[in-house]
Amino acid sequence: MFFRDVIGQERLKQKLRESVLNKRVAHAQMLVGPTGAGSLPLALAYAQYLACTDRSEVESCGVCSSCRRYHLLEHPDLQLIFPKNRTGDNEGQKFSSKDFVIRFREAVLEDPYLSLQQWLSFLGIENKQGAINVEDSAEILHNLSYKAYEAEYRVIVVWLSEKMNTEAANKLLKVLEEPPVRTVFLFTSESTENMLATILSRVQTHRLERLSDAEIVQGLIADGGSDESQAALAAQLADGDFGLARQFMHDPESISATVNFFIGWMRACFTMKMDTISVLMDEFQKMGRERQKDLLAQAAGLLRNVLLYRMAPDAHQPMIRQQMEFVQKFSRFISPDNMEGLLTELDRASYHIERNAHPKILFTDLSYSISALLQQEALKR
Ligand SMILES: [Zn+2]
Repeated sequence: MFFRDVIGQERLKQKLRESVLNKRVAHAQMLVGPTGAGSLPLALAYAQYLACTDRSEVESCGVCSSCRRYHLLEHPDLQLIFPKNRTGDNEGQKFSSKDFVIRFREAVLEDPYLSLQQWLSFLGIENKQGAINVEDSAEILHNLSYKAYEAEYRVIVVWLSEKMNTEAANKLLKVLEEPPVRTVFLFTSESTENMLATILSRVQTHRLERLSDAEIVQGLIADGGSDESQAALAAQLADGDFGLARQFMHDPESISATVNFFIGWMRACFTMKMDTISVLMDEFQKMGRERQKDLLAQAAGLLRNVLLYRMAPDAHQPMIRQQMEFVQKFSRFISPDNMEGLLTELDRASYHIERNAHPKILFTDLSYSISALLQQEALKR
């Protein structure tokens, strides 16, 4: 992976390059960014740059023996740690990332912006949670007890490190405190909220920015997307998540399914049509947990765009063009006054989904809250 394969994040890329050029590479770093902002591809590009024997000031060379191995994510001094769970094949046995690494490479090479849900689906265990377990930490310590093979830096990339359980995290503390020379831990995470303070205090944290719609469109076009208005719509729905935008691009029907769900739901909330809410609630319950979270994020993105329309009706926005009638009516009930409340409610719902809230109850409660916030704006008129 090259820095140029990572969309946006120019400021952070520069900071990471400089750390190498100035030989001030912190031995444990954490890249924190929202889903689809690119913390994994950025970590991999940084690792490749660190290990390259002929880097320029901006990019790894791509041709040295290290880069060639990195290109396939097969460098012996690169260790990949990631969430996973039991599949049918490893029932009853201990397992670590090592047992899944061939499939992980395959999935990441196919789409470095993949989400946890995509990865678990790839393994055929989309209804399970993924975790980083104590066997992973043991594997890391085991590898570190050997000398590095050849690279200047040995790199351990820990993808979605918030999925590390306490036992696994505790086992790593000592090595994070006193790592072997020229060993770099690159953790990525979407949120540091539930991470052990003892880990956080030992890492240098970098924050990725949420990707703009324009950056996502550029990325989709570079990725081979030819339909620019489709790309704009996908970017708008994906709300900063490039991986999701790419999925939309490959599956245009899912775009209309999402927009239709959103429109039906908002109408039902506004009119308090309980029978419609109940139908949507059943539909919502059937989606997997990650899909539910995606949908809430997309709803937030769509609401933001409805508000933008209200503020600047002449701006060109793809969803707006296709759903003009709905947006014109609905935008009267969205204002800066209730927007914050709406986004907070969606965020809170997402937080509770993560913690196994009952989807039917959650969806109904959320619909009531949204309804109240929409009414609040309506009453002003
Ligand atoms: Zn190179």
